[in-house]
Amino acid sequence: MLNYSLIDMSELKFYELTPNQRLETLNLPENVMMALKNAQDLVSGQIIENYVSNFTVPMGILKHLLLDGTAYNIPMATEEPSVIAAANHGAKMLNAGGGVHTELLTDNTMIGQILIHQITDYTALQVFLTAHRDEIFAKAQATHPSIVARGGGLKNIELRMVTDNMASIDCFIDTCDAMGANIVNTILAGIIPIFDIFHTQILAGILSNYATQQLVSATVCLPFSAVGGQDIAERIVAINHFGHHDVYRATTENKGLFNGASAVTLANGNDWRALEAAGHAYAAKTGGYTALATWSIEQQQLKGTLTLPVSVGTVGGAISALPQAQNALRIIGERVSANQLRRMIVATGLAQNLAALRAIVSDGIQKGHMRMQYRALALQIGATPDEVPQLTEKLTQLSRVDTTIATQYLNELREKS
Ligand code: NDP
Repeated sequence: MLNYSLIDMSELKFYELTPNQRLETLNLPENVMMALKNAQDLVSGQIIENYVSNFTVPMGILKHLLLDGTAYNIPMATEEPSVIAAANHGAKMLNAGGGVHTELLTDNTMIGQILIHQITDYTALQVFLTAHRDEIFAKAQATHPSIVARGGGLKNIELRMVTDNMASIDCFIDTCDAMGANIVNTILAGIIPIFDIFHTQILAGILSNYATQQLVSATVCLPFSAVGGQDIAERIVAINHFGHHDVYRATTENKGLFNGASAVTLANGNDWRALEAAGHAYAAKTGGYTALATWSIEQQQLKGTLTLPVSVGTVGGAISALPQAQNALRIIGERVSANQLRRMIVATGLAQNLAALRAIVSDGIQKGHMRMQYRALALQIGATPDEVPQLTEKLTQLSRVDTTIATQYLNELREKS
C-alpha cells in the first residue's frame, strides 16, 4: 500500500493529488476505500491520469491452438463468462483440421494522414509532393532515427483525394514490433513543417486506425466431423451467409469474434479499441456492413476464413510498462514478435467465431452461457468460491433462475452443510 503524507488538498487540483488523496475526496465507505487502496500499484499511476486504483480483468488461457504448425497457449483477458470456454472449444474444432493457416496480406505499415482541406489547386499539391519527396523521407528518418535503425520508418507517401477540395497525404510507416501510434504521430509532426506553404489548409497530422496495410488472414479447412457432421457444417455456412446480408446479424457475429480477438489483444496490454475500430471499418469496406468471417463448403470440407486489420505491438506503450502485459507475453513464448501476435489474434477470432456459430445452430448458445452466468450470479449473492460449483450445478437443473431463487438455494445448501 502506498503511504503519502497529508497536505492541504484544497489548494490542489484533482490531478495534482496523490492517488490516496484523490480517494479521500470521493467520500467512500472505509471498506471500499481500503479495497481500492489495496489494489494500487506504483506503475499504473504513471500510466494514466487521475489514477486511484486498479481494475482487474480475469485472464484465462486458450490452450493449445495449432497455428501454422505450432501449438500455442494464448492468454485472454475478458470479463465475459463463457468466452474462454468457447475459444477453447473453437480451437479444438480448428485443430481437428490441422489447425489454422495464417498469412500477412500486406506490407505491415501503419498509415499516418496529413489532412488537407480547402484545396483549390489539387495539381499544385501533387507537384509539391513529388518535388519534396526526398526531403520528406530525409526528415522522417531524422525525426525517428531509432525506428529506421530497426529497419522501419517511412516507406511510402501517396496523395489521396477525399472530396474535390479535401485530400489526405497518406504516409506508410513501418513501426517494427511497436503498435506505432506515437511513432507515426511523431514522424508526422516532424514532416508537416515541410508543407509550410499549405499551412492554412493543413488540418492535422494523425495516424489512421483503419489499418488496411496490416491485414492478416486466418484460414481453416475442417472435416465435417469436427463440427458434428455435414448438417451442422451446412447450418454454420447458412448462418454466416445471413451475416453477409443482414447488418443486424453481422454486428452480432462480429462482436462474437472480437470476444476472442480483443481478449487476446487486451491481455498483452495492447489497444483493443484500435483493433475493433479497424475491424468494424473493414467489415464495411464494400459500403455495407457484413460479417468479417466467411464459411463455405468446399470439396466436402468446411472452410473458414477471417481477415482483419491488426495494429498491435509487443513493445512500447503499456505493453512494456505493465508487468501483467509482460507476463502474458511470456506465457506465449520467450520472444514474441508483433507479427506472431497479430496472427494469434486473428486465429483466436476465427476459433471464437466458429464456436459461436456452431453453438447457435446446434445446442443453442444459452446452454453453455448460462452455466457461466450462474457462476457469476452465485458470487454476486455472496457464495464463497467453495460453494459456487455446487450452487451452479443446482441452478443449471432449474427451469427458471433469478436472484431470489439462487439465494434460497444458497441458504438451503448452507443449512445442509
Ligand atoms: P511508444 O511510443 O512506446 O513507441 C514504441 C517504442 O518502443 C519505440 O519508439 C522504440 O523506442 C521502442 N522499441 C523498442 N524495441 C522496438 C522494436 N523492436 N520495434 C519498435 N519499437 C521498439 O508506443 P507506440 O508508438 O507503439 O504507441 C502505442 C500506444 O499509443 C498505445 O498505448 C496506444 O494505445 C496509444 N495511442 C493510440 C492511438 C490510436 O490508436 N489512435 C493514438 C495515440 C496513442 P526507442 O527506439 O527509443 O527504443
